[in-house]
Amino acid sequence: MRNVSDYFGENVFNESAMKARLPKDTFKQLQAAINNGKRLEPSAAGVVANAIKDWAIEKGATHYTHWFQPMTGITAEKHDSFISPNNDGRVIMEFSGKELIQGEPDASSFPSGGLRATFEARGYTAWDPTSFAFIKDGVLCIPTAFCSYGGEALDKKTPLLRSMEAINKQALRVLKLFGNDDVTSVKTTVGPEQEYFLIDKEMYDKRKDLIYTGRTLFGAKPPKGQELDDHYFGVIKPRVQAYMNELNEELWKLGILAKTEHNEVAPSQHELAPIFATTNISADHNQLTMEIMQKVAKKHGLVCLLHEKPFDGVNGSGKHNNWSISTNTGVNLLEPGETPYENAQFLLFLCAVIKAVDDYQDLLRISVASAGNDHRLGANEAPPAIVSMFIGSELSEVLQAIETDTPYGAKEKELLRVGVHVLPKFPKDSTDRNRTSPFAFTGNKFEFRMLGSANSISGCNTVLNTAVAEELKQFADELENAADFDTALHDLVKRVIVEHQHVIFNGNGYDDSWVAEAEKRGLLNLKTTPDALPYFIHDKNIKLFTSHKVFTEVEIRSRYEINLENYCKVVNIEALTMVDMARKDILPAISEYIASLSASAGAKQAIGSDVDLSYEAETAKELSALSGKAFSALKTLEAKLEETKRIFDITVLAAFYKDEVLAAMDELRAAVDSAEMLTAAEYWPYPSYGELLFGVR
Ligand code: ADP
Ligand code: MG
Repeated sequence: MRNVSDYFGENVFNESAMKARLPKDTFKQLQAAINNGKRLEPSAAGVVANAIKDWAIEKGATHYTHWFQPMTGITAEKHDSFISPNNDGRVIMEFSGKELIQGEPDASSFPSGGLRATFEARGYTAWDPTSFAFIKDGVLCIPTAFCSYGGEALDKKTPLLRSMEAINKQALRVLKLFGNDDVTSVKTTVGPEQEYFLIDKEMYDKRKDLIYTGRTLFGAKPPKGQELDDHYFGVIKPRVQAYMNELNEELWKLGILAKTEHNEVAPSQHELAPIFATTNISADHNQLTMEIMQKVAKKHGLVCLLHEKPFDGVNGSGKHNNWSISTNTGVNLLEPGETPYENAQFLLFLCAVIKAVDDYQDLLRISVASAGNDHRLGANEAPPAIVSMFIGSELSEVLQAIETDTPYGAKEKELLRVGVHVLPKFPKDSTDRNRTSPFAFTGNKFEFRMLGSANSISGCNTVLNTAVAEELKQFADELENAADFDTALHDLVKRVIVEHQHVIFNGNGYDDSWVAEAEKRGLLNLKTTPDALPYFIHDKNIKLFTSHKVFTEVEIRSRYEINLENYCKVVNIEALTMVDMARKDILPAISEYIASLSASAGAKQAIGSDVDLSYEAETAKELSALSGKAFSALKTLEAKLEETKRIFDITVLAAFYKDEVLAAMDELRAAVDSAEMLTAAEYWPYPSYGELLFGVR
């Protein structure tokens, strides 16, 4: 076995590869481009391109691609080979600086939400030098952002990079006020914990619903689910362990810091967590991780399900977004410090996050909104659709002491003044207990838990970065003009606590009473995607994004449309899949079984007139009733789908899918699942929940 440290990052053109292969000068220029966003001179780009090409060819690559993240939710690539014809009928391998820096994929087939009509169809991809190039399946992949020719963002990376710039700018202003003149850049960091299901491929292949939609649309509850809590952190089965080993190896080769793996709560559910990285790199890595998870699974005769709710009745899968802010001098700004001044700075950044989460609850909710995640949020397993924050009891006491001008702690005689006192260090253990909060402080970072397992992390981090940038801007505006900094700082912190503490909730977020309490506090409860999305285009939110140059208004409106359209398409595919399964497989199977029951009743009667036919008779009767019910629900669903064709307003259409189509789907499922319970296993056309959930041994 090879030593991990020998092959870690071997498929990445990382800093050490750059250093080894670039002339000193070019290396320096490239470092400046990476660290300070400086533009790379065309001549230097040519040198870099050539070095990357030689490196890639040595590793067996023949093609290159600009790798990007369009609004489809997955990554896109179009391969070009390095070959260029020579005069003598042979070829040479070429890759120019221009090819490295910019590509021109046809943008017309990617979702653009109306941007296409307004602007040119052509798009271009632009190199993101902060995220290293890598080799995947013999192709050199260059991480890029994807824009229209007018400069409108057509992807998820562009706004993320813009939001990182926004928070960098405002955080630097605030840090200057605390005398941190040595800090030249501030970056947000993210470690996404990824949940997933692993099921047997043979069973997967027999389920049209999994194939077409990624989740089961039918399925009666198995005798055993997750009630014994015997899967979480349980012993990992050999077949799963073999999968995890190969997955780790593939990720490590790509320089992805896969760190933790364990079984999750539901049967067949697992989690993978990496060590955190700078946000845009983390987003690239998470995208790659999801892709490789699925690829490696196939090699092991497994399928990796990334859907947020593949199975009813057991937990769905989320993706916890651990987020923090760090300086280039290595300070984590969300970690309480050792000195009064560090603590004051920490408190101010904490207040920025509290105010941001309160002011932009709607946007955070929207950033995780998808048809799939709607099945998860608000169910008794995932955070509710209400955005609130957990900060732990120690920190709450600190905030309370500041708010009420009362002494803090048992021994403390004086009042707590920001900038004078040292806060206690919070041991991580005592701050990380609340698992039901959507947005929890965990000692030196926040963990946003509403994200679904299939979601890109770009959206929620774009919102977080921008919202916190806005609060930091307001703080800097106020404090830069203050006559007395300490007093102004204290007053500001106190005011934020008073005005925004209603978003802080340290109790059980799964409790029903929280819903009522949250309503009293005036917090939003946007239960579904169609409920949440309209907030995207509210004036306050358009102002936020445009003032920090993260989105133009046109981009916001186009994304609003793309997201609604996507919601409608997903539900529509699910509904059509149900119709197909019910008509072609399920109803015929029930009828066949009824026929077999009556055949065996007939056979029994031949034995004698006094035989007991109750099993055949009662089951056949119940099944006939259920198939009637299912058939009528099926016809209702088909009628609803017909109706959708006559709705042209996308907002109205999304609401119709949510209220009418989903309800009809539920009704059909209920009847079919009851019928499954009564039907002999060999007649049922699909593997059961029990086989799917417990099939990997
Ligand atoms: P758990 O949540 O299971 O207790 P940890 O708290 O150790 O585990 O870490 C969870 C995730 O948070 C990991 O991906 C880790 O790398 C990430 N993380 C730790 N520190 C930071 C940070 N400063 N910024 C962003 N993510 C972080
Ligand atoms: Mg965690």
